[in-house]
Amino acid sequence: PTAVSQPLHPLLTIPAPTTTPTATPATPPPPSPSPSAPSFLGLDALFTNPVFAGGIGLAGLGAAAAFGRRALISGAGLLRRQLLVNIEISKRDPSYSWVLAWLAQPRDNRGFLAQRLTRLRNLSVTTSTKSLSPRGMAEDGGGGGGGAAGGRIHADFRVQPGFGRHMVRHAPGVYIAVNREKAGTATTATGEPHETLTLTLLWVHRHVLADVFTQAHALAQSFQQGKTVVYTARKMEWAVLGKPRLKRPLGSVVLDEGVKEGLVDDVKEFLKAQQWYTDRGVPYRRGYLLYGPPGTGKTSFIQALAGELDYSVAMINLSEMGMTDDLLAQLLTQLPEKSILLLEDVDAALANRRERDPDGYSGRTVTASGLLNALDGLAAGEDRIAFLTTNHIDRLDPALIRPGRVDMMVRIGEATRYQAAQMWDRYYGDIDTDHAGRERFLNRLDELGLFGGDSQNPDVPKRHTSTAAIQGLFQFNKGDMEGAIKMAEGLIPRTFEP
Ligand code: ADP
Repeated sequence: PTAVSQPLHPLLTIPAPTTTPTATPATPPPPSPSPSAPSFLGLDALFTNPVFAGGIGLAGLGAAAAFGRRALISGAGLLRRQLLVNIEISKRDPSYSWVLAWLAQPRDNRGFLAQRLTRLRNLSVTTSTKSLSPRGMAEDGGGGGGGAAGGRIHADFRVQPGFGRHMVRHAPGVYIAVNREKAGTATTATGEPHETLTLTLLWVHRHVLADVFTQAHALAQSFQQGKTVVYTARKMEWAVLGKPRLKRPLGSVVLDEGVKEGLVDDVKEFLKAQQWYTDRGVPYRRGYLLYGPPGTGKTSFIQALAGELDYSVAMINLSEMGMTDDLLAQLLTQLPEKSILLLEDVDAALANRRERDPDGYSGRTVTASGLLNALDGLAAGEDRIAFLTTNHIDRLDPALIRPGRVDMMVRIGEATRYQAAQMWDRYYGDIDTDHAGRERFLNRLDELGLFGGDSQNPDVPKRHTSTAAIQGLFQFNKGDMEGAIKMAEGLIPRTFEP
């Protein structure tokens, strides 16, 4: 046999020539190889070609490597599927912000590995600012006495994990991989880019997910402990307005004798009466209309009531630009849980609407029927407490004041003697122990005719002042009774005379 019949590894052998001059002449010459059917010998020739055979070897190695790699990848995928658990949280879900805040919490990272792995390196910051001005609900810290200089800005910074991947050590040996990313070009209803947060952890550690969500929720609640969350309409959905504010104590809102108690008792009765409503198939909702001049404590009362009941406030100002019937209806069907609906300036939406637009609906503001429909649609299920406020009761559509829409109407009016006395006590009670200062102040207000004048004495003008104005006077003269009495004249409402 020739060297051809026993080929060694092409890299190891020096190939022998395929034909030798010593071959026996009797042997017929091999048939010439045809390209369509290569002969055995032709293949031999190919395989014994060192370059070709080397190539085959390399190709084999490459194929094996590729196969190995693919096996590794699918193995890893399999492992990932079998051993890891992913949980994706959409920005639309309330738990999204809770988990983000929870991730940003400082944790106890003992151990080198833990420290290396659990440091969040990529952070993002959210800044919220608010101006500290004495007027308006958004700025009130509650307590009635917290004066603030106008124009100051308070800023708060909240640090959160930024976009990208993070590793967090939840407990010894338990790590959570976090991936925060923008979800394509999708946007939320408020126009912000949509985001997702994916938590990945070992399948054997999946039980800690329950802990994560419980802790994150508890943390979110602890931020809101003793606070009232105010929601407002932002585009198509509810968004938290600023940071939750300290609960405003009910005692800090001074309404006329018995008014506050009457309202609070009614709301509490309603909240106890769910069964009554269910048994009768009546929608479980109650509407209140607070009317009267501005600056008399309507908004403040509703905020304090929410604090008392541990509810949030979902507020819509109907005179706001861009509020339409459809939008109002949509917002009212998705009210945040445990919230009091506050519809401010209901008259603005209804003001001569029908007269102005004979064709009914111009699409730019809320119409009378739009408001009625939205209120009637105020969904069943949960309790629904709605407060409507207006400065102009005379402009309201009578159809609004019907049980089921408005069950109780209360006028919150100008300051009475009773209210002025109560407010005085809140500000100067500790220094005016014998009430002498209070009597002088009240008499001075009487003299100025500020409690509606004196019907017995036509010389005393008939006029009024607001509780907001009295509060302003007391805040200006903090701790200074004499100053407050001296400046009482400033409570006379200024009239504009052209
Ligand atoms: P309204 O909603 O009736 O226009 P607000 O509740 O917005 O009035 O009151 C405006 C400001 O005046 C707030 O800072 C509030 O603290 C103060 N204020 C007005 N009325 C009262 C009141 N009856 N008791 C306590 N504070 C009041």
